[in-house]
Amino acid sequence: MQMNTLREEIAELLPEMIGVRHHIHQHPELAYEEHATSDLVAQRLAEWGYEVHRGLGGTGVVGRLRQGSGGKSIGLRADMDALPITEATGLPYASQHHGKMHACGHDGHTATLLAAARHLAQTRRFNGTLNLIFQPAEEGGGGALRMVQDGLFEKFPCDAVFGLHNAPGQPVGTLAFRSGPTLASADRVVIVLKGRGGHAAMPHFSADPIVAGSSIVMALQSIVARNVDPLLSAVVTVGLFQSGTVNNVIPGTARLELSVRALDREVRKLLRQRIQEVVSSQAASLGVTAEVNYEEGYPVLVNTQAETDFAARVATELLGPQRVLLDKPPVMGSEDFAFMLEHRPGCYLFLGNGDGAGSCMVHNPGYDFNDAAMETGAAFWSLLVERYLI
Ligand SMILES: [Zn+2]
Ligand SMILES: [Zn+2]
Repeated sequence: MQMNTLREEIAELLPEMIGVRHHIHQHPELAYEEHATSDLVAQRLAEWGYEVHRGLGGTGVVGRLRQGSGGKSIGLRADMDALPITEATGLPYASQHHGKMHACGHDGHTATLLAAARHLAQTRRFNGTLNLIFQPAEEGGGGALRMVQDGLFEKFPCDAVFGLHNAPGQPVGTLAFRSGPTLASADRVVIVLKGRGGHAAMPHFSADPIVAGSSIVMALQSIVARNVDPLLSAVVTVGLFQSGTVNNVIPGTARLELSVRALDREVRKLLRQRIQEVVSSQAASLGVTAEVNYEEGYPVLVNTQAETDFAARVATELLGPQRVLLDKPPVMGSEDFAFMLEHRPGCYLFLGNGDGAGSCMVHNPGYDFNDAAMETGAAFWSLLVERYLI
């Protein structure tokens, strides 16, 4: 089949699907509250002939379409949730829900997958089982994990799963790939220090949690600098340090919160172990107690070699080699599609959102998904299915 034909077919669907994107953008819903969004997705999929399954992970939707007698199956994932940010784009289709905004482009991911869904249902140039996975709560809520725990891959077996995210700063009409660890694990650590409060003028009668906390903040820096292999990557950020009320009182407690990231499962374990050790020994040496609460978040996102190579070949067939970036550098952000990739081989890739107007970073009140990127995303999804399910 000619690539031009595929692109023309997709182009015909785009005005309507861009309208769908703007509608979702106007009505953003936060994690696990994607009721109207999942209604829209379910309704469209049903109209186009998909078997629609709801309720996985709460508001998750899976659309299944079988074609021919082929035994292969593929899963394509889009995320549906918005962020608690007040939009400042001034767009005509800006959020109508104050304090909520599609500032990560999940409206675009959902509409792009819907565009491909419609095209694939119309053309049916594949042989096997297509599973479209619309997940809730990517932004910290672990919606992908909830869907997996609810039996996603038992109910909808997938030989491989694929997901994409828009990438501000990457030119429109390009796709970027990386095999192996691509996004970091992200854990949250809450440390509560308990000392003995007192008068600022009589520190010798106190056990000062601010001094202990300060010492801990500095000592934590030594983990990345001195314990982690310098050729590997890790982040230990203290994003919160709260204590005290007034200058002349030594407080009794302090609270620290850390964001801990790694691109390697072993490094992740090492960070956990060293944080425990550093915090408890520093606290003990300064006469306070430390309670360390380690909350494991998203795992390292690891793309498998064969599926990444396959997806990159499809992208090259569609776009030509000059619009496909291989070996995209990893980043220390995280993504809960990593949970799906812990269960199935697959690839998470990046769709250019633009290096001009589309370069505003995600999670910014001025960000918007670039509608010009939708054609590339939808055409890629369609061709990936056509080439995978043969
Ligand atoms: Zn995000
Ligand atoms: Zn996102």
